Amino acid sequence: MEGRALMWFRKGLRLHDNPALEHACEGAKNVYAVFVLDPWFLAPDPCAPSPGSARVGINRIQFLLGCLKDLDLRLKSRGNQLLLLHGNPVEIIPGLLHKWSIKKLCFEYDTEPYSLQRDNFIKEHATETGVEVCSPVSHTIYNPEDIIAKNGGMVPLTYQSFCRVLGKPSNPLGDGPSHIPPPIDYEGVNVLSVPCLEDLGYKNLNEEFSPFPGGETEGLKRLEESLKDKNWVSEFEKPKGDPTAFMKPATTVLSPYLKFGCVSSRLFYSRLKVLYSQVKSYTKPPVSLEGQLLWREFFYTVGYGTPNFDRMVGSPICKQIPWKDDEDLLAAWRDGHTGYPWIDAAMVQLRKWGWMHHLARHAVACFLTRGDMFVHWEKGRDVFDRLLIDDDWSINNGNWLWLSASAFFAQVRPPLGNQEALLVAKSFRADIALKSRFGLSCAVSPNIFAYYFWTEI
Ligand code: FAD
Repeated sequence: MEGRALMWFRKGLRLHDNPALEHACEGAKNVYAVFVLDPWFLAPDPCAPSPGSARVGINRIQFLLGCLKDLDLRLKSRGNQLLLLHGNPVEIIPGLLHKWSIKKLCFEYDTEPYSLQRDNFIKEHATETGVEVCSPVSHTIYNPEDIIAKNGGMVPLTYQSFCRVLGKPSNPLGDGPSHIPPPIDYEGVNVLSVPCLEDLGYKNLNEEFSPFPGGETEGLKRLEESLKDKNWVSEFEKPKGDPTAFMKPATTVLSPYLKFGCVSSRLFYSRLKVLYSQVKSYTKPPVSLEGQLLWREFFYTVGYGTPNFDRMVGSPICKQIPWKDDEDLLAAWRDGHTGYPWIDAAMVQLRKWGWMHHLARHAVACFLTRGDMFVHWEKGRDVFDRLLIDDDWSINNGNWLWLSASAFFAQVRPPLGNQEALLVAKSFRADIALKSRFGLSCAVSPNIFAYYFWTEI
């Protein structure tokens, strides 16, 4: 019975640069690699406004299943396999610790409030029953707690103050253990093979699916592809880039792979640093590709250290604004029926692909909130939360706070950046490109209203 470890996968769906997995393998005779499919997230909801569960759209479910299939194959290539179970992890994990006589429980630290509550419960239970718990930080490059401590115990609320306290990050761990000792005696537990959407109860799906398949293998391939063109990387500058470049998107589209941890952000960052050292000149944060990864770290840190970060009421950093609570306006925006081609086409892309270029997210978020509609940012956040394949609690809330001018920006009037986002859209005739790609049939508004909907003409 000695030396049994349970590696609980949630995010961090990878073998490379995975400190929790490395800890699980250290001195273990058997490693039980577990993922729990939670019906709370996955059960079909026939009343939802688009296919998927009440909380998660069909594209993210599909992406997750791709990640699990790939993880299982990769584990098998190292002598192990994924043990997939169905139910509520808070009930299942403690039961497994007991049933399999586990000595060590390992999982990646997760800073989201929902996950913290779940993990604290399980950690407490494990510790009480004599199980060693190991929960390292590896979803982000830096540990948000360290950043806050380095900033004198205060959450850095500007990107500049955040960047000032960053030290050099640690190096990624490599490709992962070459051999992962297999599990034994798990027959008494109902272990599933990775289901398809139909197995989860999703029938007659005739929507267009996201073109981005899930998994570490795909994610690493995408990382290599993105870094192949050194000029492109060294000249990368947000917010430049065509939001309607569908065949070859203008940005990396690594966000879903970072969200599920198929690609380690620390690996991405270290590869970027190597590339920068090989070129004569390169763009710098906040607009560079390195700068984008630091935005991610910034929102993780603020999200971790700010009470009620995901709501207006009770948040110490969020402006209290008397937003409208208008379900009809919200539904028109969500379903792409506003009559503004650029906005409607972008929202259709969100539903069909679960991903949009940053400038499209920028525009639709402004439009819903401080643009024409004046609808609460939390409502828009919820729609993104359900539909994005890269939905990420810290980043999504942080950007909605930003784009609605509820935090980080001082004014409620659109700052220059937003005007810029729309001008870029106009120069690319984003409405036409998005419409023709996503077959939208909305009434065409006079072009001027498509872009300048909030200015006084
Ligand atoms: P790239 O430009 O290639 O950047 C590389 C990585 O940097 C991204 O994958 C992402 O991890 C990070 N990054 C880039 N931009 C930002 C940003 N503004 N804030 C934080 N990190 C960033 N991104 C998410 O990953 N999840 C979300 O839930 C999310 N919600 C958003 C909501 C709104 C209203 C807005 C305006 C933006 C949101 N973003 C979100 C940020 C950004 O739009 C996406 O990260 C980006 O478009 C993803 O494409 P990419 O991977 O090609 O990005």
